[in-house]
Amino acid sequence: LSQLSAVNWVEGNRVVDIPTEPFKGQLLINGKWQASSDGSQLSRVSPAYDLVVAEYAKASVVDAEAAIQAARHAFDQGSWSTISGAERAKLLNQVADQMMARQQELAVLEVLESGKPIRQARDEVAWAAELWRYAAVSARSLHGDSHNQLGQDMLAMVLREPIGVVSIITPWNFPLLIVSQKLPFALAAGCTCVVKPSELTSATTLVLGEILQAVGLPAGVVNMVVGEGPEIGPTLTTHPMVDMVSFTGSTGVGKAISAAAAGTLKKVSLELGGKNPQIIFPDCDWEAAVDAVVFGIYFNAGECCNSGSRILVHESIADAFTKAVIAKSRQVPVGDPLCEATKVGAIISADHLQKVTDYVQGAEQAGATVSLGGQTQGTGGFYMAPTVLTDVTPEMAVANEEIFGPVLSVLTFSDLEEAIETANNCLFGLSAGVWSANIDNCLAIGRRVKAGTVWLNTWMSGYPELPFGGYKESGQGRELGKYGIEEFTELKTIQMHMGPRTSWWLPR
Ligand code: NAD
Repeated sequence: LSQLSAVNWVEGNRVVDIPTEPFKGQLLINGKWQASSDGSQLSRVSPAYDLVVAEYAKASVVDAEAAIQAARHAFDQGSWSTISGAERAKLLNQVADQMMARQQELAVLEVLESGKPIRQARDEVAWAAELWRYAAVSARSLHGDSHNQLGQDMLAMVLREPIGVVSIITPWNFPLLIVSQKLPFALAAGCTCVVKPSELTSATTLVLGEILQAVGLPAGVVNMVVGEGPEIGPTLTTHPMVDMVSFTGSTGVGKAISAAAAGTLKKVSLELGGKNPQIIFPDCDWEAAVDAVVFGIYFNAGECCNSGSRILVHESIADAFTKAVIAKSRQVPVGDPLCEATKVGAIISADHLQKVTDYVQGAEQAGATVSLGGQTQGTGGFYMAPTVLTDVTPEMAVANEEIFGPVLSVLTFSDLEEAIETANNCLFGLSAGVWSANIDNCLAIGRRVKAGTVWLNTWMSGYPELPFGGYKESGQGRELGKYGIEEFTELKTIQMHMGPRTSWWLPR
């Protein structure tokens, strides 16, 4: 604890007690919960409490294959893929209702497995439920197109059909939220799915499976397999019965999945990493910008694809602005994630905490200054103090690579051109932001920075109506908005000729 004296440490006054029994999860295959075919299990130790909080049946390749067969059979048999959008919408709304009815239970499971703060976890459940409701609207509004300007005797229809069987593979940082960016939209389109949550945080996805069964989703439409990515991932991404892979996770695994899926030319959508810049001009609203920088880097302990993990500050204000960020960072409450006051909980695992601290050490060796934090708390959970690195230069690893922890890299720029060049000089392109009262600065950055989302005088606002995804190595495809459901469809063109045939290939 003494190592964290630089920050506001939180403990005690929990809103709920830690459950005495671990969560028990099985595989959901063809509408039945079952043990794995080889009897193997995996367990999850909480990163915050050093306790086993979940025990799972661990899927083998045989189980993954059975889940895919069930999804294929359900799709081809048509009890979900051919019903009306209105019928699908009804069920998706019921899922949202059930999620909210179980909000606290879902939030606690999320806290125990991921170490994130309870208040944030509850918000995430509500946000996830909202995505199911939005997908219900998408189910009813999805439509194709028609063409009547092809000549008097021709008409054409462009149909949007469900793409088929989708493998959905998700990471550990926002387990329920990320599955809810994919699954309800795939279902809204009429697809059937095999879902593989992260082996570190599978509980809430399985509770979602219970909810899907409770509201009467036909057997086999959604199947769930808990297991190790390298073991069952290749089956989910190469199997000929799978039509599409929808993946969120690291860029490295995303590339491996893309290569694996190429063998059968499956459609692949990828939501990957980021190294997202917030660009700070002297004329900005300082208080708002400082708050957004602090929120941007410490939200979810920095384990967030949209983390604002580098700031580019105009050189004329760099010292004063950085001091203000450091002062605010000292106020961030770190500690027991079951306490309402906590804003930064535990890091996901010992290995990941080591990776984060290695980045800090590497930065120091490369010439950066650790101006705040840099330390961990050694016992109990895996906690990391809010950390600010200054004297960071564009070629350093901490300016280019995703650290995925509460570590902010501060860089400077002299003019708009340099800010845009530094922002773009990175393999990632997920999101970016600018803080300035000058509309020309804002719009220049909005138009010229290569990122899927650019925030002007705001940070990490999100709406189900707006598409989300990355440029460059941050991914391919988009989730949410009208594009969210369209990702899970194929286009089919139907051309019709009316009346007697007027042109002949060979003379009559
Ligand atoms: P990860 O890539 O290690 O794992 C993600 C999932 O892929 C897990 O379910 C894992 O079991 C599975 N997997 C691993 N190897 C596989 C393989 N060979 N084939 C198929 N599946 C495999 O990522 P993570 O550590 O769980 O999550 C953190 C990463 O996720 C970060 O890079 C973060 O930026 C990214 N992320 C991106 C977004 C986004 O929307 N862009 C959102 C959240 C997280």
